Amino acid sequence: MVSTGSPPEATAAWVDWVDWAVERFGHSLRIACSLAVEDCLLVDAVAERAAKLGLARERSPSVFVLDTGRLHEESYQVLEALRERYDLEFDVKFPSPERLEPLLRAKGALSFFASTEARRECCAVRKVEPLGRALLGASAWMTGQRRTQAVTRAELPVLERDEAHGGLAKVNPLALVNDVELRAEVERRRVVVHPLHGRGYPSIGCAPCTRAVSPGEDARAGRWWWEDPAHKECGLHPARVTPRAGSDT
Ligand code: SF4
Repeated sequence: MVSTGSPPEATAAWVDWVDWAVERFGHSLRIACSLAVEDCLLVDAVAERAAKLGLARERSPSVFVLDTGRLHEESYQVLEALRERYDLEFDVKFPSPERLEPLLRAKGALSFFASTEARRECCAVRKVEPLGRALLGASAWMTGQRRTQAVTRAELPVLERDEAHGGLAKVNPLALVNDVELRAEVERRRVVVHPLHGRGYPSIGCAPCTRAVSPGEDARAGRWWWEDPAHKECGLHPARVTPRAGSDT
């Protein structure tokens, strides 16, 4: 079933946005899953709505995971737990060997520590190009981004148009959800929780580029911790802050 209904108000409950997107886009909706708790919550809500609508797996939204080749072992455990629990299609996208192998040959396996530019080059090969393939044929995608995660997400809208991918609708149902609300929803629904969240990792990414943060630190402080916070996006999502004068671009 694909509805043509109008989107909810921007301030509507996050789950109303999920329900609307599932009904509006059906199988042409793709859920981006980093395996962090926000995305596991979305998978839970999407599966619930699809089941209520009586959508078979092949007519339900699908979930995609970008396997960069550098994920934590625990991330694979989370993926398997999701696959076991939900009757949804899980599409795992790997980097293209045609792009990754020349990068490794020329610059080695740790080039991303050298500079922001080198880090973005690695993210472009391991994440951004596979994302384009994950979205082929989609009408919309959904992410678990939240405004409070980072300065780069402070102005994140709930619904936007993704010009980088041909004008697809991009739905961020959790944009306005704070930490307390997130925890309550996760507990209430008994969502799969990545083990690293309990070890000080609020954000989950590639193993060499992610570390635990101290209490009170920005949720994304453990990602690319050697860089200016204004640049901490991997290219999957546009940053919405103006870089400080004199900083890297
Ligand atoms: S997060 Fe690190 S290892 Fe992963 S793609 Fe980006 S630079 Fe490469």
